[in-house]
Amino acid sequence: MRKKENLRESYPCRECQAGIVHPSHVTYFTWLKDELITVPNFPAWICDLCGKREYDQRAISWLTMLLNPNAGRKVEEKKKKPPYSHLSGDNAAPAIK
Ligand SMILES: [Zn+2]
Repeated sequence: MRKKENLRESYPCRECQAGIVHPSHVTYFTWLKDELITVPNFPAWICDLCGKREYDQRAISWLTMLLNPNAGRKVEEKKKKPPYSHLSGDNAAPAIK
């Protein structure tokens, strides 16, 4: 019995269709504003023939979360509307008692 488990395994390259994509670790570069961030030992899949790289999507989202200080944190914006506002002249909205 064989289960389909291609998640962490090598697989044939979709790009050149001849090479094999192997799990590997690379140094990932990304820009954060004006700073170049390098992440060593970043999980990636690399084709041994054409060199196509695919990064681990989970690692990418993890990294994005790290780099974005607002990620994962819900910014609660409390918009306080005044209970009654002065309507100027025109009767656009009905007055609230
Ligand atoms: Zn390839």
